[in-house]
Amino acid sequence: MITDPKPGTLYVVGTPIGNLEDMTFRAVRILQTVDLIAAEDTRHTGRLLQHFQITAPQLSYHDHNSTSRIPELLEQLGRGKAIALVSDAGMPGISDPGYELVKACVAAEILVVPIPGPSAAITALSAAGLPTEKFVFEGFLPPKKQERQKRLEFLQAEVRTIIFYEAPHRLRQTLQDLAEVLGERQIVLARELTKLHEEFWRGSIEDAITHYTERQPQGEYTLVVAGLPPLKPQLSEAELIAELQQIMAEGVSRSQASRQLAKATSFPRRHLYQLALAIPIPLAEVEIRQET
Ligand code: SAM
Repeated sequence: MITDPKPGTLYVVGTPIGNLEDMTFRAVRILQTVDLIAAEDTRHTGRLLQHFQITAPQLSYHDHNSTSRIPELLEQLGRGKAIALVSDAGMPGISDPGYELVKACVAAEILVVPIPGPSAAITALSAAGLPTEKFVFEGFLPPKKQERQKRLEFLQAEVRTIIFYEAPHRLRQTLQDLAEVLGERQIVLARELTKLHEEFWRGSIEDAITHYTERQPQGEYTLVVAGLPPLKPQLSEAELIAELQQIMAEGVSRSQASRQLAKATSFPRRHLYQLALAIPIPLAEVEIRQET
């Protein structure tokens, strides 16, 4: 039996991040039946409501009026009104207004019910192809250079996959900053998710910089960045030599073997090359070299 909406309840309703078909049946029903919809931008939400023939009244609720709106909304909830909270796209409270209202409701012991819908972060992660077992959501990086730098330095040692939101006009700068502080990493640029021009661009951060020197960033972006590879157990000198010997036994040159092992162990290539110098080239290899 459907008993929603319950009186005196705040519903936190997810809405599409681009594709209207991602609106859930439950979200439509809740929005159709609540007494009031608190919306980040009433004009924007008005178009969504019109599409689904939802006629509940709206009230604006955004970061700049939350202080005055919260007591007003709490008062209406206290009088038994059912209120839905929506943002312009995705889940309210996720890099969107909502948290302060939810916190106030929880403090006032008002029931808060989530109505799940898409969120760009999870949507991007699900198809990025980078580890999903553990991840962190960073939202937007601070716009000021120094603060961004600090935040990225804090993330330097992060081994989990990292998700960022970014505006198109800041994308190039962000890629530069990521390359500078995080170094060589894999990145997935998830663009225009669920929309006509949805695109997943995958490669290294350096390649992404090159890619976007040739074209203008356009549309909405979610960035999924690989975490730092977990440190390999440190090998002793004797073990490194044994590894080099094994690679060289396959006919690989000292220099290539050192490069290969440097990649696999993160030991400096030069150090490995010095060790490789002590390894005699296998006899068969010497003969082949002499013949050619
Ligand atoms: N509350 C939303 C959510 O749950 O995903 C996020 C709102 S935040 C203000 C907007 C940012 O989310 C955009 O700047 C972009 O980084 C990301 N985003 C939103 N829609 C997207 C889409 N369709 N494709 C890629 N990223 C998107």
